[in-house]
Amino acid sequence: MTDIQELLLSRIRDVADYPEPGVMFKDITPLLADPAAFTALTDTLAGIATATGATKIVGLEARGFILGAPVAVRAGLGFIPVRKAGKLPGATLRQAYDLEYGSAEIEVHAEDLTSGDRVLIVDDVLATGGTAEAAVHLIQRAGAEVAGLAVLMELGFLGARTRLGPTLAGAPLEALLQV
Ligand code: AMP
Repeated sequence: MTDIQELLLSRIRDVADYPEPGVMFKDITPLLADPAAFTALTDTLAGIATATGATKIVGLEARGFILGAPVAVRAGLGFIPVRKAGKLPGATLRQAYDLEYGSAEIEVHAEDLTSGDRVLIVDDVLATGGTAEAAVHLIQRAGAEVAGLAVLMELGFLGARTRLGPTLAGAPLEALLQV
């Protein structure tokens, strides 16, 4: 493990049985509160953005906003929020996806993405991959290309990497930490 990975891992707090029994919640607020760790994370993700040739950063609500926005600024790129349905005021594209119980929908402002854009998706934790998969579909439906998916932490035992393989179609999935 690199020094940066050790620093990042040391600033993530495991909270058992949150928000429901059986879930080990990965709380990134200690990392956000530590300027050295938050800067290291931002710089690392910005390096991935540059390496993938991204032209825009998409952040997934809500912690993908906190991580993705400084990455966009650092990499000199625009930031596009993908929000839970009903929060964006303009004309949107909407994508439904299945949850363990029921379903959810995410949206993006249609005017924010166009053909020719290469988009790096940023989020904190990759769990089942359902949210990221829906975001990829949204970006593709807007006519843009997915440059990659970058997350702070991948919960490998949930199998998102396998699930996302066909959807990402060769675009890189970069996880700074693996559980
Ligand atoms: P999924 O769609 O299952 O990959 O879930 C990903 C979204 O849920 C991300 O936006 C995460 O912020 C959040 N999430 C899922 N599982 C966890 C967890 N164990 N700890 C923290 N956040 C989680």
